[in-house]
Amino acid sequence: MSHGEKVGVREELDFLKRVKLEFEEAIQFIDTEVETVEKGIVGLLEGPFRQLIVRFPVEMDDGTIKMFTGYRVQHSRVYKPTKGGIRFAPDVDLDLVTALAFDMTLKCRVVDLPFGGAKGGVCCDPKKMSCKELDRLTRRYAYEIFPVIGPDADVPAPDVGTGEREMGIIYDTYKMFNPKSPHAEAVVTGKPLNLGGSEGRTEATALSGAYVLEEAVKKGHIQGLDSLTDATVVVQGYGNAGYYIASILHKDYGCRILGICDSKGGIYDPEGLNPEDALSYKENISKEKTVIGYKGLKNLTIEQVLTKPCDILVPSAKETQIVGSIANDIEAKVVLELANGPTSNLADEILIDKNVYILPDILANAGGVTVSYFEWLQNKAGDQWELSEIKGRLQKKMVTAYKNVTKVAEDYTLDMRKAAFVFAISNAIGVLKNRGIFP
Ligand code: GLU
Repeated sequence: MSHGEKVGVREELDFLKRVKLEFEEAIQFIDTEVETVEKGIVGLLEGPFRQLIVRFPVEMDDGTIKMFTGYRVQHSRVYKPTKGGIRFAPDVDLDLVTALAFDMTLKCRVVDLPFGGAKGGVCCDPKKMSCKELDRLTRRYAYEIFPVIGPDADVPAPDVGTGEREMGIIYDTYKMFNPKSPHAEAVVTGKPLNLGGSEGRTEATALSGAYVLEEAVKKGHIQGLDSLTDATVVVQGYGNAGYYIASILHKDYGCRILGICDSKGGIYDPEGLNPEDALSYKENISKEKTVIGYKGLKNLTIEQVLTKPCDILVPSAKETQIVGSIANDIEAKVVLELANGPTSNLADEILIDKNVYILPDILANAGGVTVSYFEWLQNKAGDQWELSEIKGRLQKKMVTAYKNVTKVAEDYTLDMRKAAFVFAISNAIGVLKNRGIFP
């Protein structure tokens, strides 16, 4: 394959194959810059170096016992500890967790954190389980992955289907087995504030997205969008990341939120939606816990909402939501990827051909793991930083990361996703080269 040639895949790939392909394509740009000895080092990044599969029982509220399968995948030892969230969802399997762990290695390099990538998950449907059942599942899963986690080994965090409550339980389980550990809080991030959690962690993913979007607009990188004031937004996924980005873009940047989708469908109103009211409707009024019906708006399919007119499209749910079959009808000028891997390989090509600017996941949503890093530092130091300090440090990290990725994009004439991969892989090679190979 010659330098910079496209692999030319014509069918949709699953997330793991897609990440591997993006990695292979990015390597072509790096090969010209490194000596032969370093080429072998790339193999260390193909990972993962450890995949743990656990099968365990949980007692359900009706007294029956149900078996669950969980995973923890550690992708790269580029730095220790490894870092990455834990997902509770029905489609969790080894390939998905491995792809997400791969992404974490790259993401940590993009924002230059001293972590390797990891990810975990349990195949379950948290929406169909009670709080007590989820608590028992979390505690047993924490026990099962106990041999591979630790403040200096591997540090989990929230992801889709998990949050503060689960992180508190993981911390408690770890602490029960390590009562004398001085910084046991640092075994997991995204904890409740009173257990050593950090200010700003909940909204961090959305905040990083807002900061890179702001930079892209300021630099004039998004064709046809020179201001965020009155810019129109469609958000897909109305969990933690989706709600906060809608709220931040609306309140802090003066954007108008026109469309919101969740897993059940979506709504669109050219007059604009209020993000806080939509959330309160979803959580307190809707029986099905959906935004559908808010302001009496009729139910649209997710596909219909994604293809409605807007300037900024924010996929905030999960992988492979923007696919080739709808990409041609997308009208947005920029796609801000707050979810991990939301754009399929075919959609990616179509959107780039249409000149849609894509702010890729490993850059745009890196605020989650960045504030996790701040939380880990605070735990190690027994400290608590104020929200303004967290926000200031996060913005600085994101502006630098945006600048670094943009420079690669300009130097090699690459789109931002490819540039982020090239930047991340080059950075990792630099670190691994200095570490050398054991023994
Ligand atoms: N789950 C988040 C992500 O995908 C955060 C990971 C972390 O904080 O370690 O980036």
